[in-house]
Amino acid sequence: MQEIRWLIGISYFIAAVLFILGLKKMSSPVTARKGIVWAGAGMVLATVATFLTPGESTLFVPADNILLMLVAIAIGGSIAWVSGKKVAMTNMPQMVAIYNGMGGGAAAGIAAVEFARGQMSGSLPLTLATLGALIGSISFSGSCVAFAKLQGLMKKAFRLPAQNAINIVLAFVALGLGIAIVLCGQSAPAVPAWLIIGFFLCAFVLGIVVTLPIGGADMPVVISLFNAFTGLAVGFEGYVMKNPALIIAGIVVGAAGTLLTQLMAKAMNRPITNILFQPISGEARAGGTIEGSMKEISSLDAAAMMHYASKVIIIPGYGMAVAGAQHKVWEMTESLENAGVDVKFAIHPVAGRMPGHMNVLLAEAGVPYEKIFDLEEINSDFNQADIALVIGANDVVNPVARTDKTSPIYGMPILNADFASNVIVIKRGQGAGYSGIENALFYMDNCRILYGSAQKVIADVIQNLKMME
Ligand code: NDP
Repeated sequence: MQEIRWLIGISYFIAAVLFILGLKKMSSPVTARKGIVWAGAGMVLATVATFLTPGESTLFVPADNILLMLVAIAIGGSIAWVSGKKVAMTNMPQMVAIYNGMGGGAAAGIAAVEFARGQMSGSLPLTLATLGALIGSISFSGSCVAFAKLQGLMKKAFRLPAQNAINIVLAFVALGLGIAIVLCGQSAPAVPAWLIIGFFLCAFVLGIVVTLPIGGADMPVVISLFNAFTGLAVGFEGYVMKNPALIIAGIVVGAAGTLLTQLMAKAMNRPITNILFQPISGEARAGGTIEGSMKEISSLDAAAMMHYASKVIIIPGYGMAVAGAQHKVWEMTESLENAGVDVKFAIHPVAGRMPGHMNVLLAEAGVPYEKIFDLEEINSDFNQADIALVIGANDVVNPVARTDKTSPIYGMPILNADFASNVIVIKRGQGAGYSGIENALFYMDNCRILYGSAQKVIADVIQNLKMME
């Protein structure tokens, strides 16, 4: 028995090391795939070790529950396998949201069972279990709402009357019930069912009402925040269950989620408190009226302008992802480079619909990493660029973020496409960006719109470039 415990301890330690190394590898597109495999291997090892855990441990009694566990793994694993294979790259954020929500829900579920069993002793485990249950439940219901919004199943933003007051009251009631659970858990053998149900109901509703008004460009930050919540909840429940793998995985996810949330909030120049309490509604329009008109350009003229330019900066956005145009974009880039044009890619941290979305697509198309630049690295280059080519991007190049204090995206750093001598924007029509606001760039004198779906339009540009060789 002692040997098994020792082996399980070692397995959890190796799993934890694999989680950390995997996460480290995920920080670069070059090693990201390997990182996912390493972290996955860690997860398999931790799961196997859990199955081997002797029955009298505080975890569970495998002999009683092994069938249930296998059935749960088979159902969950099959759903994840099929949806993971099928999901389109543009639907990744909602997939991340729903999977993350499941993690939070699972952590809350563990706490609910422990409350009902009434075998937790000491105020620290009870307090941590309650905290984990609270944030896990908020993450679960909030992530479900985020999923529904991103999947187009519900309105992007929905604000209740006295929204902030409702949030605060619900938070206090949930906290109050949580304190009652901790007190009851210390004196009674099991926490009464009504208290457990009331606490979880409150926490679930809180997650829903906090997420309802959030829409527009705030969505990715909120998903990342819930990710951090899930990590914390799992870490707390890991402590309660004395499971080191859960503690370490939870801490790693919680820390990574917190850092990503901070980075994204900084990239959008929006403090987290503003995101939660003064969200961008997604229905607002730019405050001031925009002067000028949108002027069209043909693919032939666009190709000629780029062929004779010396410096072109390409700004990919969500539209490039929807059109699946990344391979054509790289083909066009090679054509331009053969003509002696210096081509670079500028990536905004929230371009597309998930962090790193554009980097992944460009890497998939074979664009070398040294051609891809972050906002801070490239923004000063736009002044010297002959052409900024915007492919299906909108919010991330909207100059009202710099100038219009009444705009809901005021203060968000943007790519300085408008500073280039000429701007060409590829888009299908009059569609707004994710935040739903009008873009002043499209109306500027130096801007021309090349209408059409990105893949088709770029194929036309390539044809025209070939004729100029
Ligand atoms: P936007 O959503 O602002 O704009 C997309 C543009 O693409 C629209 O103007 C649309 O215009 C155009 N478009 C759509 N389909 C096509 C197509 N087939 N071919 C060519 N153009 C097309 O994209 P950005 O990348 O600029 O900004 C991302 C936004 O999404 C930000 O507001 C960000 O906060 C938000 N977000 C980001 C997430 C992330 O983690 N990165 C997650 C969730 C949201 P038209 O309809 O006229 O073609």
